[in-house]
Amino acid sequence: MCRHAAWLGAPRTLASLVHEPRHGLLRQSYAPLLQRHGTVNADGFGVGWYDGARAEPVRYRRAVPIWTDENLPGIARAARSGCLLASVRSATAGMPVEESATPPFADGPWLVSHNGRVAREVVRELADDAESTCDSAWLAAAVFARRRAGEPLGEALAEVVTRTGVKDPGARLNLLACDGVSVAATAWGDTLFVHLGDHPRDGVLVASEPLDGRPGWRAVPERTLVLASPDGVRIRPL
Ligand code: GLN
Repeated sequence: MCRHAAWLGAPRTLASLVHEPRHGLLRQSYAPLLQRHGTVNADGFGVGWYDGARAEPVRYRRAVPIWTDENLPGIARAARSGCLLASVRSATAGMPVEESATPPFADGPWLVSHNGRVAREVVRELADDAESTCDSAWLAAAVFARRRAGEPLGEALAEVVTRTGVKDPGARLNLLACDGVSVAATAWGDTLFVHLGDHPRDGVLVASEPLDGRPGWRAVPERTLVLASPDGVRIRPL
């Protein structure tokens, strides 16, 4: 299983998701605490953020362990945004280890990360093509097909997860996505947490597991959708 995290709120750096917190994604890549499947997340990492000049995110993905990238700490200190997403990957057996299989996947302003596994024949029915043969790439492609059909972020995630979940009851479908102004996530088979910040108006963290020991982390119930926007955070059953 992979681990992923996102921030929506007052601008902050990518390092605030990856390097600075005691249990940030760097540490979660080699010592996750709550991961239900797999032990380390050493098959790649990806980060994405919005620089304000364009609607499309800036993205950086690599198919190597996050701790081996000498350049990432500097990039993460400089990348500052009100909407950030990062992930570390543990490839499911049989899936390719390559940049095109590494979340976050991108389409227009949307970024999508997947923590879990799904039968590819099920999700292939929901998209025409994907950038990799990896199951996560097909899930992202299914979400992007709904973006192109005009669906909002949360609805697209909910539709893809419930449709694939019905056809593949063993699927694990924790998706995390953002579009620059909102963050959406599903809890379907693995852990998911939210933190409203020391000053709730600052913004919200959504992560597979808490990034630090601060009070205020709340476990998201299984089979729910989290939707964070400037209006607040809503959690609803799927
Ligand atoms: N199935 C996906 C992959 O192979 C995600 C794996 C995971 O969540 N560990 O990359």
